[in-house]
Amino acid sequence: MTDEKTLKKKLVKQKKSLALFDIILQNLDDGVSVQNKLGEFIYENEQAQLMHKIYFNAKAKYTNTVGDYVSLQDLPPYQSLKDGETHKLVIEIANPAKYHNVWMRIKAVPVFDKRKKLAYVVATWRDITGRILEEKRRDHFIAIGSHELRTPLAGIKVLNQAMQKLYAGHKFDQAESYFTKIDSKVNILTRLIQDFIEVEKIRAGKLDFYPRSFDLVEMIKNSVNDLRQIYPLHPIIVRGKIDKKIIADEVRIQQVINNLIVNACKYTPDNTQILITLKKADKIVTVEVKDMGIGIDEQYISKIFQPFYRVRNPESVNAKGLGLGLYISYKIIELHGGKMWVKSKLGVGSTFHFTLPLVIKKSKQVYEF
Ligand code: ADP
Repeated sequence: MTDEKTLKKKLVKQKKSLALFDIILQNLDDGVSVQNKLGEFIYENEQAQLMHKIYFNAKAKYTNTVGDYVSLQDLPPYQSLKDGETHKLVIEIANPAKYHNVWMRIKAVPVFDKRKKLAYVVATWRDITGRILEEKRRDHFIAIGSHELRTPLAGIKVLNQAMQKLYAGHKFDQAESYFTKIDSKVNILTRLIQDFIEVEKIRAGKLDFYPRSFDLVEMIKNSVNDLRQIYPLHPIIVRGKIDKKIIADEVRIQQVINNLIVNACKYTPDNTQILITLKKADKIVTVEVKDMGIGIDEQYISKIFQPFYRVRNPESVNAKGLGLGLYISYKIIELHGGKMWVKSKLGVGSTFHFTLPLVIKKSKQVYEF
């Protein structure tokens, strides 16, 4: 075959695949656009054209997930054109022509030429309104439901305590144990409802947060003393010291510590030690909670910080829970500007770590998507 023929064949093949590519792009639910380095649109699929006509006009107003005003120039494609980086952003569009607001997730990726100079910016425009509205409805339902449940539960708890007092001193041995059981079940339910409310707050970016100065070691020792009463068969040891007070939300950090120690007890056979180690380096405090329990299989490690995730294995069937504790703890530490992670080996044990800056700067809470 001559060179000319080969070239022609190649061109026909290229044209065919371009046509196929265009059919695929035109049928996507997402908008796809390509801009040249001057910011001019050189390609828009049908969705992108439609979105730009309806949402990106002079009348529309944009805000980000924390309610700050966003201008057209703040949108990812224009950011990528400026700095040659990938950008993502979720915006809420208040559009007067539409019945309700619209949420859109925009991602822009730069494309470089052979000389590594920015040539194009490819952007995808995804309408995520349905998902956001569904999440908002669900969060609202959980929040209202949880608040409504809390009140009668508090009533049951008080009545139970009153009955317990009435019966005290009478010889109704069984009654005493029933009162105690009712009380502990009410506590479990209250805790679960509290967790639901917390998750709702995290999702809405509204977790309560009151930083003040406190002694972390003292607080951990107090927690350990309380938990020793509940888990008397687990030797819990605290090691290390921190010579400075930290500034953080004490109640929230205690919630994290309690969760990690309770988990260590729940997922560890009786009479095995739980070791808590405290360290300070520069301006960062590290806390480790180490157990020699059932451990976590490598494939699940990245998932256990997700809401409602529980590893299902025969060793943990008796441990009760909803899989919210670690998610909430992770978010609390993140909010303090710290990090949380775990190292674990199946059948050997787990060590949960978290860091906290000595002085936290409250980070902005963001509505989750
Ligand atoms: P819960 O304990 O209520 O299920 P968490 O969010 O605290 O929820 O933990 C999520 C999952 O992570 C648990 O269900 C368990 O499978 C696993 N896990 C947590 N801590 C440990 C631990 N110390 N050892 C082994 N598995 C753990």
